[in-house]
Amino acid sequence: MSEPLIIIGAGPAGLACAYKILKQSKKKVVIIDKASAVGGAGASFKWKGHILDYGPHSFHTRGEEPEKLIRDLFENDNEKLIEGRKNVSIFLKNKKFKYPLQVSEALLKFNPLLSIKIMFEFLLTSIFHAIVYIPVDSFESWGRKRFGHTLYKMSFGDYTEKVWKTKASRISEKFASEKIQGFNFIDLIKRLLKVGGQVADEPYYQTWIYHKYGSGSLFQKLSEEVIKLGGEILLNTSVKSINLHDHKATSVTVVDKVGDAKDINCCYLVSTVPLPRFIYMFDSNTPFMLRHSASKLSYISLIIVYIEFEIEKISDIHWFYLLDKHFKFNRVTEQKNLSPFTIENGKTILSFELTCREGDEYWQFSDEDLFEMAKRDCENIDFISLDRITDFLVKRIPDAYEMYYKNFDTHADIVFSYLKEIDNIASIGRRGLFLQGDMHKSTEIGLQMGEILSGNNPDKREIHEFYDRHLKYLE
Ligand SMILES: Cc1cc2nc3c(=O)[nH]c(=O)nc-3n(C[C@H](O)[C@H](O)[C@H](O)COP(=O)(O)OP(=O)(O)OC[C@H]3O[C@@H](n4cnc5c(N)ncnc54)[C@H](O)[C@@H]3O)c2cc1C
Repeated sequence: MSEPLIIIGAGPAGLACAYKILKQSKKKVVIIDKASAVGGAGASFKWKGHILDYGPHSFHTRGEEPEKLIRDLFENDNEKLIEGRKNVSIFLKNKKFKYPLQVSEALLKFNPLLSIKIMFEFLLTSIFHAIVYIPVDSFESWGRKRFGHTLYKMSFGDYTEKVWKTKASRISEKFASEKIQGFNFIDLIKRLLKVGGQVADEPYYQTWIYHKYGSGSLFQKLSEEVIKLGGEILLNTSVKSINLHDHKATSVTVVDKVGDAKDINCCYLVSTVPLPRFIYMFDSNTPFMLRHSASKLSYISLIIVYIEFEIEKISDIHWFYLLDKHFKFNRVTEQKNLSPFTIENGKTILSFELTCREGDEYWQFSDEDLFEMAKRDCENIDFISLDRITDFLVKRIPDAYEMYYKNFDTHADIVFSYLKEIDNIASIGRRGLFLQGDMHKSTEIGLQMGEILSGNNPDKREIHEFYDRHLKYLE
């Protein structure tokens, strides 16, 4: 094969895919990314003496292939890897709770009447739903059915509406199965009755590894391996369109940093870009239904306000979630708790995350206004002292999180049906599969696609099976 296999995107999925192909075959691989650094959403950047992530990114560990890949990369350099356990808190009803919820803490801090109300509602809801069938057709009905009204609103409902800036009744129930894993209410009730202890199952991923110099350094190292194995990475190069001939992608048209366009031929094309953006890269003669469905797969964007404090540390918490409605921001993180080497001595940085829509009121706020807004949230968090603030920085990130509106799956199905008709294309990663997963998941997906594509004649059936395996929301 003389033409290269092209991968669009040098994020976790694209790099892992390239690495696997190059490790297992002699194929020529070119990765193209519009960004100036590798790592995708998991990249890091420098600000003054600090190295910052786009919202601190820890790599979840579970002893699977993605973790093994990272450990192998740093086999001779493993002092660069820091390991830890998540320390997460939530602010709820003006009180700080440890997450996962400690029952003793909940009983102490919640009004006991509220705990009784929650259990009573749960019991009633369970009995009611055992007798009367009410279809679950949204995130809201899923939550109410499973937890009862009060606990659903307190723990998921209000926060979901705050983050996604839409009514929970408009969000698909499939969002819950993708995002809310490992939370077992029955277990919680059992423990409430016994009093003491915490929720038994590990809620989501609790352990992580992190690079001493920021999340992006993991992917920098992976990209160096890709290059050592003969791969090529073109940064600052944006793919604008895909050229098809006879159900095959033959080339991509790219534009470089100075605006020069050229075509690069390919024998196979792997995309890790957001699914609807990928569809828009095809010829405008694509069926109307396809473009319509792509337009229905939407995203929520993110603003991050980084606030620098002249103080060694603010707390030991890695992530704290601001569930109460009066907080404008959703989540705050202290990256120094993942690695002190990323932040200048004597200083620390909190990153405040606010979801919004590209172009909306928040998006258009000046940096100073966003900083003032973050400071107002600080005033309601007792352990943050405003007088130690020395500087701030604002980053706006379009298309940060996939939105699971009701019927998003019908639209995704139409899009994948179209992609399946093309012989030599695969769409992968969190973005390319329109998933909610994290970096380890994208890495795993990339490795799996790399395994398929390192074979001599990647079979279309294997790609379809790959989609079936990962697109659980289509079931
Ligand atoms: C605030 C925030 C915090 C997060 N925290 C964590 C965390 O702690 N742990 C964790 O595991 N995950 C976390 N995630 C999720 C994680 O960032 C993603 O799951 C992961 O980066 C997805 O990897 P990917 O390779 O699928 O996509 P991406 O990382 O998005 O990579 C896609 C790449 O495609 C490139 N691209 C797009 N369009 C074009 C084009 N037209 N031409 C060329 N290149 C293009 C982009 O520049 C990008 O580099 C977080 C996400 C956010 C937003």
